[in-house]
Amino acid sequence: MDCLFCHIINKTLATEFVYEDDLVVAFNDIHPKAPIHQLIIPKKHIATINDLTNEDAQMIGRLYLTAKELAKQQGVADTGYRLVMNCNKHGGQEVYHLHLHFLAKRQMTWPPG
Ligand code: AMP
Ligand code: ZN
Repeated sequence: MDCLFCHIINKTLATEFVYEDDLVVAFNDIHPKAPIHQLIIPKKHIATINDLTNEDAQMIGRLYLTAKELAKQQGVADTGYRLVMNCNKHGGQEVYHLHLHFLAKRQMTWPPG
């Protein structure tokens, strides 16, 4: 299986991690859509939200707890931020390894594009 984010996790594609633990890693998005744009991803390969099982509940929780910590560390917890997880074509998913977008330091708009 040739997965871009698995290459990042396995370090066959050099990428600096802003966070790492036993279940997830986080790194800067290569094409940032906000002054802060990071991706928080599971170490386990899961293609989409549709592929999640009950066994992944702890990991999903960890993605969000990591976002909370990143927000605190980067001083945007109070001003706010947006978390996005795209699924399949209509959701705008381009990389088929689950990832949570962490976007901050600008005003977000609603509805999303
Ligand atoms: P999505 O459209 O939700 O699948 O988001 C995929 C994200 O991965 C996009 O925001 C890309 O800019 C980002 N991306 C693609 N390749 C890399 C890479 N090598 N390092 C960091 N981010 C990447
Ligand atoms: Zn993968």
